[in-house]
Amino acid sequence: MIPQPLVATRQIGRLRVHAIQAGGQRLDGGAMFGVVPKPLWERRIPADERNRIQLGMRCLLIEHEAGLVLIDTGAGNKETDKFYDIYGIENLGAPGPTLLEDGIRRAGFKPEDVAVVISSHLHFDHAGGNTVRDASGVVRPSFPSARYVMQRGEYEYATHTNERTGASYFAHNFVPLVEAGLVDFVDGEREIMPGIRSVLTPGHTPFHQGILIESAGERAFYLADLVPTAAHLPLPWIMGYDVEPLVTLETKRRILERAVEEDWLVVFEHDATTAWGKVRHDGKAYGLGD
Ligand SMILES: [Zn+2]
Repeated sequence: MIPQPLVATRQIGRLRVHAIQAGGQRLDGGAMFGVVPKPLWERRIPADERNRIQLGMRCLLIEHEAGLVLIDTGAGNKETDKFYDIYGIENLGAPGPTLLEDGIRRAGFKPEDVAVVISSHLHFDHAGGNTVRDASGVVRPSFPSARYVMQRGEYEYATHTNERTGASYFAHNFVPLVEAGLVDFVDGEREIMPGIRSVLTPGHTPFHQGILIESAGERAFYLADLVPTAAHLPLPWIMGYDVEPLVTLETKRRILERAVEEDWLVVFEHDATTAWGKVRHDGKAYGLGD
């Protein structure tokens, strides 16, 4: 199932932003909710016959005066059909090559118009669309005019994997970009362009980053895998995929407190139905506000 809508648009201060659904993905529900028992999580998101839950791969396209900015790029088109079946990925585009490019066109732009691509981290379902395999089988940058921004620590982590981390990182999603001189590495927190700031949110990976967007007094935050769906807002609802779950816990505590205090609009990358919302704390746990 491909989560809908393909594109949702809203204003953040003076910036026009488009949440683009780069496709559907289905992952094991137990792995998605870590130590949370199934009777609790399946009330929030039901499991299919293979115990998988429906997810999305939502990217954010920002119309910034200095150029078009894209945050994360979905799963791309370079893996085998078997691979996409295992992860329940449905992201084929028409004209494509993937739904992400279709969504960018639906928002009124072309892949060539993207000036900056920011990766929250380099896992295949977030950075797979950074590069594309063309009709002749050659791997190229998906956004030929873009600079690509990523954390240097994440790139180091992605290129020095072990038995536990290696299955999520594929060199062809990022190494060709570095070799072509298209990458601007960031170390820690930095303003990438006016009003768009990288914020380290470690835990899922040690150098995972969220993106804070600020314009005319309004703030939005792209959570990426810190809080992949609205169901993951309660502090202990942490993915089994996270390499440092107790670090995730402290990052969530810090970030969600700010989200409430500063009235952030938070963006959920993997939620199949909810693109964004405000966070509230009801005295017991974090959840979605009205
Ligand atoms: Zn990830």
